[in-house]
Amino acid sequence: MEQKKLTPEEEEQMVEAAFNNVLEGYLASNHRKKVEIIKRAYAFAKEAHKGIRRRSGEPYILHPIAVAKIASQEIGLGSTSICAALLHDVVEDTDYTEEDIAQHFGKKIAQIVGGLTKISGGIFGDKASAQAENFRKLLLTMSEDIRVVLLKMADRLHNMRTLGSMAPNKQYKIAGETLYIYAPLAHRLGLFAIKTELEDLSFKYEHPAAYQRISEQIKASEARRSAVYNDFSTPIEDKLRQMGLKFEAKARLKSVYSIWNKMETKHIPFEEVYDLYAMRIIFDCDDPACEKSLCWNIYSAITDLYKLHPDRTRDWISVPKANGYQALHLTVMGPDGNWIEVQIRSRRMDEIAEKGFAAHWKYKIGEGDEESELNVWLRTIKDILDNPEPSAIDFLDTLKLNLFSSEIVVFTPKGELLTLPTGATVLDVAFELHSQLGMKCIAGKVNHKLVPLSHKLKSGDQVEVLTSQSQKPQPEWVNFLATAKAKNRLRAALRKQQHPIIERGKTIFEEFLKKHNIKDSNEILTKIVGYYHLSNREELYLNLGNNEIELSDNLIKNNAQSQSILSKIFRRKPQAKEKTEEPEKAKKINTKETYVLHYDDNGANFKFAGCCCPIPGDDVMGYINDDNEVEVHALNCPRAQVLKASYGPRIVSTRWEVVTQKFLATIHIEGIDRFGILQELIQMISTNLAIDIRRLNIEAKKEVFQCDLSVRVEDTKVVTDLCNKVKKINGVKLASRI
Ligand code: MN
Repeated sequence: MEQKKLTPEEEEQMVEAAFNNVLEGYLASNHRKKVEIIKRAYAFAKEAHKGIRRRSGEPYILHPIAVAKIASQEIGLGSTSICAALLHDVVEDTDYTEEDIAQHFGKKIAQIVGGLTKISGGIFGDKASAQAENFRKLLLTMSEDIRVVLLKMADRLHNMRTLGSMAPNKQYKIAGETLYIYAPLAHRLGLFAIKTELEDLSFKYEHPAAYQRISEQIKASEARRSAVYNDFSTPIEDKLRQMGLKFEAKARLKSVYSIWNKMETKHIPFEEVYDLYAMRIIFDCDDPACEKSLCWNIYSAITDLYKLHPDRTRDWISVPKANGYQALHLTVMGPDGNWIEVQIRSRRMDEIAEKGFAAHWKYKIGEGDEESELNVWLRTIKDILDNPEPSAIDFLDTLKLNLFSSEIVVFTPKGELLTLPTGATVLDVAFELHSQLGMKCIAGKVNHKLVPLSHKLKSGDQVEVLTSQSQKPQPEWVNFLATAKAKNRLRAALRKQQHPIIERGKTIFEEFLKKHNIKDSNEILTKIVGYYHLSNREELYLNLGNNEIELSDNLIKNNAQSQSILSKIFRRKPQAKEKTEEPEKAKKINTKETYVLHYDDNGANFKFAGCCCPIPGDDVMGYINDDNEVEVHALNCPRAQVLKASYGPRIVSTRWEVVTQKFLATIHIEGIDRFGILQELIQMISTNLAIDIRRLNIEAKKEVFQCDLSVRVEDTKVVTDLCNKVKKINGVKLASRI
């Protein structure tokens, strides 16, 4: 807009008039009359921006005044927000700091201004469309005060209204950002008028020619359209009245932006946008149970009058849209031969459609949907904005934004945003970026600090993934992955890695069956798999290929050819079983009591599982196997995790009885090789600690040596002591149990 050259006095008058307009609007509202602080904020901002002009040539202060006006008169906010709006660009554009604001206007206003300063500018660069949803979430998650978001919206709306005076390249960027981020956000906040205005303004700048063209086409068709509408609607309205319905019928014209949107997405010209205008029928109905059948009665009445488009009926009553929208849409042939859409809704459905989530919540359709966190919050906001009682406004002070607690948003080093489920780790990020990055990931840097793969992330973290070519996917990773995508990719990779082992297991199994003349069948497979508590054929092959289980030959030979052999084939210790039919073991183990693990020269009342090698003192759990024996697993054993998850009732808590028996433990030692170090090591272990060394395996590479030492010990304490003592030997860098 071209501005007339004003004298300084005239300009001053214009500014004062604009501010007084804000003040009058505020005084006419339901809010408390805190005029003094608003006047002070205005004076402060005016002084701070003194001499500065907008690109249009207007005094800068007119912008904060306009934002304050939108906040007050179009959104319905009170004095705190008006002050913050007046001051919103002070920290960013002048030498004043957030502390200065706090000193003059209190902490709350300073915080809001600070929040607005923080989220100003497009932190997401040019990737607006891909990043829009994430940015919206970030905005909502990171802004502690809802007023920050609402004022940001007011600021954006004013910038859009005055976008004409910006440089064209900036216009394009701001318009795009508005369309991708602010308009949808306004929609979700229930600011529908603002949403539509933002959309149309953005569209006007992004596609000026199309905007112009469509506006003209709408105008050109207006006279004919209203005549056609009357011809069309009159018979319907007559008929509905005959049916005794109470209803309201109106013509609804699509906005320029949504017409264009339809043309683009459906690849059709203006003339073929058949729902350019629609007829909306809103009927009154006291009993929600009757709504659906009434909708279909009306539908039937309309299709008696007009020809129905065969595939344009949309039933959003049986299956409402994700945002809660409910209605019955149909398209029929109008008197002029054009298709017309008719939308049928009850009063309740209409309110939901027009007022969004606030109304949705009021009627409370379905609970616990994904939007419910947002709903609760929005309802509160909407209630307060609709009915600004002074005490309700104070409530905004205590209201914190904690949306999307089921999700976090993190940055990559390039500033890209990723949305992940809560509990996601560095490894999830690696897989999210690229599956190869996931496979090779060794650690991460979170906010420039080194962290392990399993480090859990928080919203706003900056995450860098570190990789190594020698890294291979590990089965235990699945325990700390939070995204399904990463888990699936990891499993696929592990399967690929395990392929040769599975093949080997398959051969072993097939040879075993062939040797004993047993046919491969589901029956056999189920028995074998069940016996080893495996879940499928693949797992059986894997265990066989890894030599983790063995199919015994002797049994078959000894026990001739009977079919009942099958059940015995797969026993692990058949001889022991037959000999010792102890009545003690036959007793059912009570899983409600702690099972005392007992071991002496005559044997144990438990057995080791074989997948992990716990020794007395380790944290263990018991699993009652098919033979009613307690199988002991280390708590951190991956197999134990599976058992816990799948066989809950068979799990028993355990306690070690004080024992005298010794167990085998392996200790891994690494260090710098020097003459005499091994002698020192062995001497220390065997003489000083009187420990029984069973196996010693030493490997020296250049100046480094590695040593695996198997010793017989009584419990974990001895091992820990041993490791600590070994570490004290000059040159030893590492000593720990494996
Ligand atoms: Mn601004």
